[in-house]
Amino acid sequence: MKRAIFPGSFDPFTVGHESIVLRGLDIFDEIVVAVGVNADKRCMFSTERRVEFIETVFADRPQVSVSTYEGLTVDFAKEIGCSHILRGLRTSADFEFERAIAQVNRQMTGIDTVFLLTTPEHTPINSTIVRDILRHGGDASLFLPQRIRGLVRW
Ligand code: ADP
Repeated sequence: MKRAIFPGSFDPFTVGHESIVLRGLDIFDEIVVAVGVNADKRCMFSTERRVEFIETVFADRPQVSVSTYEGLTVDFAKEIGCSHILRGLRTSADFEFERAIAQVNRQMTGIDTVFLLTTPEHTPINSTIVRDILRHGGDASLFLPQRIRGLVRW
């Protein structure tokens, strides 16, 4: 059984994130969406709410679970029995950033990272833009998974 971890801040979870998880299920039997908790990073939504959003999105998919973690992603991946890290790639900037981390992770632990290229319609979407829209009272529903459109409010 192949189990992957999909780590991120998910502040908040977007249709881009959802798409990577759903496509990841064609490759992996189980995916753990892991919300990284970083005391130095100020988030718009609390860890609990970010977890609640993701659990709601995948309520009908028992192959997807949600966890929180602190510290190194590879340490947590090993702890919960994940052989792979799943990440999305939007741009060449994403690639350059992710490349070094993935190579170091593999060197340290043997855990490989699997990258899925974003679908064209999701390439411009990121959580920062969604937060800006919400902060200014705009309608971000186009960028939020259908099940949490009414839930993600600022
Ligand atoms: P991080 O802070 O670790 O980058 P994010 O929550 O921003 O966390 O993203 C988590 C993962 O989701 C990353 O692999 C990122 O590349 C991917 N991702 C973010 N936005 C999109 C998108 N619009 N389409 C596909 N993948 C995305």
